[in-house]
Amino acid sequence: PVILGIETSCDDTGAAVVDADGNILGEALHSQLQIHLEHGGIIPPIARDLHHKHIQGIVNMALERSQCELKDLSAIATTVKPGLPLSLSVGLKYSKQLVKETSKPFIPIHHMEAHALTARMVHNIEFPFLVLLASGGHCQLAIVRNVDDFLLLGSTLDDAPGEAFDKIARRLKLRNIPALSTVGGGQAIETLAKEGNSQAFNFPTPLSKYRDCNFSFAGLKFRAYKIITAEEKKHDIIGDLILPNVADICASFQHAIANHIVKRVHRALLFCELEELLPVNKKVLVVSGGVACNHYIRAVLKLVCDHIDFELVCPPPKLCTDNGIMIAWNGIERYKAGIGIAENLDEVDIQAKCPLGKDISKSVE
Ligand code: ATP
Ligand code: FE
Repeated sequence: PVILGIETSCDDTGAAVVDADGNILGEALHSQLQIHLEHGGIIPPIARDLHHKHIQGIVNMALERSQCELKDLSAIATTVKPGLPLSLSVGLKYSKQLVKETSKPFIPIHHMEAHALTARMVHNIEFPFLVLLASGGHCQLAIVRNVDDFLLLGSTLDDAPGEAFDKIARRLKLRNIPALSTVGGGQAIETLAKEGNSQAFNFPTPLSKYRDCNFSFAGLKFRAYKIITAEEKKHDIIGDLILPNVADICASFQHAIANHIVKRVHRALLFCELEELLPVNKKVLVVSGGVACNHYIRAVLKLVCDHIDFELVCPPPKLCTDNGIMIAWNGIERYKAGIGIAENLDEVDIQAKCPLGKDISKSVE
């Protein structure tokens, strides 16, 4: 099979054509990052208008590059959940039209399941495996038992880590640093952190009293806000000026986030061992979502995985952030498994929120 995937759940308009072996035949992506950076965050109607403006061109470009025509496709797969309703609607409406014109099967896709399964496109990974999804809107730990069979071990109780990175980057005015003016918050903090001291500022350990696999990033974010305000006072920083010790703040904040993530992941790894949820001879942790691009976080995860004999698998950064490829690949996985083709197109709708599989987080200890 050959499948066209379409992604519009947030601020990236993505399309790709992928075959059954995971070959990317053609892809195209339009990122709205610059415009949202200027506004200091995503404004949903603006995101919708930009998706609307670019979707046709992006789909055509992916098809052209793949040298496939619509008639060559086995199916069309599109993100329908979870995400910003206005953004999701553009992709679904466009896809429904295309499906009607071509009479192709339609496969609705869950954005987070797609993030999780991308790893299987580039690495030889069998079910079941453990996945950490850390992104702009989510932080989730789940066992992936099959294409459509997820067990949710834990998730964030408040903010997502990517969101925390983005907000602190904005508070630090990192966009005013010319070399960082065009990159996202997480990437800007990672870059500056390389020159900073990760022990310069103390952060609390979130949820230290709880032996479960949930996350909490709001406390770390508020602590960072407090530190920044105090430092600005101390250094007489006003207006667009940047703190002289900005790198230390970035390094300490990134370290605190990484440390929290690793502690909770460690819990999940131990839980999987104890409950024998993963094959003894090949225990795999997949890490995906935009925050998985972060090399510091990858490195600390690698340490803990090596320590207890887990294999750490991270898709290349380009596949960790939003794209059409992961949607097309999820379409392939579903198509091959004979599941997920919509029976009645008119009944397919978007869903802003949608759980990832069966929630067993309350029984994780
Ligand atoms: P979700 O997948 O939860 O719906 P999303 O699709 O908006 O959210 P992604 O595109 O998967 O999120 O990831 C974007 C997020 O990843 C942003 O918050 C960004 O700051 C973060 N991010 C990207 N690169 C890095 C990095 N190097 N370090 C830390 N965070 C990063
Ligand atoms: Fe995403």
